[in-house]
Amino acid sequence: MKTIGVIGAGTMGSGIAQVAAQAGYQVILNDIKDEFVNRGMQTIKKNLDRALSKGKISEREVADTLERVKPTTKVADLWEADLIIEAIIEKMEPKKELFKQLESICPPETIFASNTSGLSITELGTATSRPDKVIGMHFFNPVPVMKLVEMIRGYETSDETYETIKQLVEALGKDPITVADSPSFVVNRVLVPFINEAVFVLGEGVATADDIDKGLKLGANHPIGPLALADLIGLDTLLFIQEGLYQETSDSKYRPAPLLKKLVRAGHLGRKTGQGFYSYTK
Ligand code: NAD
Repeated sequence: MKTIGVIGAGTMGSGIAQVAAQAGYQVILNDIKDEFVNRGMQTIKKNLDRALSKGKISEREVADTLERVKPTTKVADLWEADLIIEAIIEKMEPKKELFKQLESICPPETIFASNTSGLSITELGTATSRPDKVIGMHFFNPVPVMKLVEMIRGYETSDETYETIKQLVEALGKDPITVADSPSFVVNRVLVPFINEAVFVLGEGVATADDIDKGLKLGANHPIGPLALADLIGLDTLLFIQEGLYQETSDSKYRPAPLLKKLVRAGHLGRKTGQGFYSYTK
């Protein structure tokens, strides 16, 4: 594998492109508008400059990494990629549309991967005539820092595709776990209902937000309390994942906490809006 295409130059796509380029792969980074691709390139440059200032990488490595990333707004430029990782918005239809489009551009051996946080890899595979070459590669935010990649096998994903991607994940300096296609995979399936439960506890008046977070930090050795973590992730994102689990399984144990819904409706989404379970205004 020499060339990796990354579609979507946002938070995740720019991080994936950076990590791949730093590992020595040629990267084609695509987004729908010049301003979005440029923003992705700027993010990569800023991250590399920060690593340089901390003495973690050399000036040469910064220059070589940047040179390996080719920004483009033309999907057709992705024809030469051996693997394409999509990191566009978390909606099934646009992702399927994209895979359909790629099908007509890429040779039959190109592997299509999705960085989806929880959508079905099996369903994504049905948008192509190569479901055996469709796989989930779920990176974590921030990509250059977080070690884990969940590798999701769709119903038709072949052993060959799985092995190729496993080797690549390791070559990127990441540590994979293998996950069957299932709503929200492993980490979010466990983490998000855990946070949701903390919101129930708060909503029922069992304890204050400070004490809930303190309890989990001191009592369970968590580095950050669940409510502070919720504010960091974004309450809208959490609600979206929790609702997805609830709808997909029809299991009442996944029902979103009413307080979570209320805060999202009020526009209190956490750090990004300055208000969530805690206030971030000065
Ligand atoms: P983002 O909004 O930061 O970036 C998405 C980018 O995709 C935008 O720049 C947008 O212009 C671009 N885009 C949209 N449609 C496109 C198309 N058809 N072709 C090319 N580019 C297109 O989103 P993000 O946070 O990077 O999330 C991307 C994916 O990664 C989602 O599936 C999300 O669920 C998943 N994910 C996100 C996180 C996270 O913490 N943010 C973590 C793991 C996985």
